[in-house]
Amino acid sequence: MPFLNDQNRMWQEKARNVAEKVVRPLARKYDELQEYPWEIKQALAEAGLLGVWIPKEYGGGGGGVLDLCLVIEQISRACGGVGVMYCVNALGSFPILVGGSEEQKKHWLPKIATGEKLIAFCLSEKFAGSDAQSLRLGAKADGASWVLNGEKKWTTNGGAADLYTVFAVTDANSKSRRISAFLVEKGTPGFSIGKIEDKMGIRCVPVVETVFQDVKVETAQLLGGQPGFGFHHAMGTLDLARPGVAAQGLGLAQGALEYAMVYSARRQQFGSPVNSFQMIQQMLADMASQVEAARQLVYASATSLDRKLPGAGKMAAMAKLYATDTAMKVTTDAVQIFGGYGYMKDYPIEKYMRDAKITQIYEGTNQVQRLVVARNLVKETNALTQLLDAYIPREVQVGYNDPATLAAQKAAEPARS
Ligand SMILES: Cc1cc2nc3c(=O)[nH]c(=O)nc-3n(C[C@H](O)[C@H](O)[C@H](O)COP(=O)(O)OP(=O)(O)OC[C@H]3O[C@@H](n4cnc5c(N)ncnc54)[C@H](O)[C@@H]3O)c2cc1C
Repeated sequence: MPFLNDQNRMWQEKARNVAEKVVRPLARKYDELQEYPWEIKQALAEAGLLGVWIPKEYGGGGGGVLDLCLVIEQISRACGGVGVMYCVNALGSFPILVGGSEEQKKHWLPKIATGEKLIAFCLSEKFAGSDAQSLRLGAKADGASWVLNGEKKWTTNGGAADLYTVFAVTDANSKSRRISAFLVEKGTPGFSIGKIEDKMGIRCVPVVETVFQDVKVETAQLLGGQPGFGFHHAMGTLDLARPGVAAQGLGLAQGALEYAMVYSARRQQFGSPVNSFQMIQQMLADMASQVEAARQLVYASATSLDRKLPGAGKMAAMAKLYATDTAMKVTTDAVQIFGGYGYMKDYPIEKYMRDAKITQIYEGTNQVQRLVVARNLVKETNALTQLLDAYIPREVQVGYNDPATLAAQKAAEPARS
């Protein structure tokens, strides 16, 4: 990648090293065990990769969203599950970066950067998925404390994590200031892990229900110290995190493509390697082109966020939907190229397909990403109307048949009559 700078390449190289030496050889073991891979977490921590996105002043690596994406891509190329297990720490800690007080940043971020503390992000509930604002878990003020009651669904890293960013309703009557975020530590009385999910893919990382029964937390644990900003913190977090999910998809697609390239060179049928058949070549060419297009979009969206460019949110949604749809398409095609062997658990390729599916669902489904993109396009339309209106058929416009409107239009456009 000619446009990556030295810092970007340094993180990419470190991640590739851990991915090939530690992650790939252990991927199958932890997929089968469905257990948190502590030895892989240790290797990631020793390589300094757990703090890439955390500023240097808080003990991190001082990298940006692009650096984070490069690391996620390399890890996910070797194992999609480890890719998630790694980047959920970014998802959990972004709220602290986005909305935390200086004390909260100084206290938690250095511990997260070294891997001393793992973190999870608790937004979704049984009845609040895409419509995150409808969440029900409540927090009531009690003197200088808050008391949390309710449940969260799908908490990735739950049980393994030491710290949980929990979104709760603090003012049920407010529309814009309804939700606040709290930092809840593992071991707090009343906080427990409920159902542990049995998943199709990303099986090495736990996804659980988290239960809060009269969980008392201090005001110091209210994110940013002010109630009512939780939804703002959640949306700011998801904007920053979206390219990371896109990078998971990208890494999975790249990894599956590489397996398909090598397999199709080795596998012989009709006396020739299957990669000499034009239909297989067409599949490989399409897969490689889609992966490269996804890569450009992921890197561009991450760079737009790092540079705080206008339209970065729309780009992040585009990157998420395109790269993760590509992951599903390319991993499925890779299984096809492996033929019957692709369908068997003896070989790594079927796991890529299983791991890819979730990337289209979490952190905003791809339907929701399309909504985000479409809403942005509708907003941008006003600016284009002036330029293009004269070329749009008149009869499709409201009021065209109204005589007064027609007369006014005619009067305004003498040159065209
Ligand atoms: C393995 C896993 C890990 C997860 N990890 C976490 C985590 O760590 N923290 C966390 O907070 N959450 C997590 N989630 C939750 C995840 O973000 C949600 O599952 C996701 O946002 C979708 O919500 P839902 O499952 O309730 O689907 P729903 O919102 O019920 O959607 C059902 C279907 O309707 C579609 N749909 C919904 N609304 C619209 C609309 N307005 N227009 C068009 N289509 C729409 C959706 O795209 C989907 O196809 C995880 C989920 C899974 C499965």
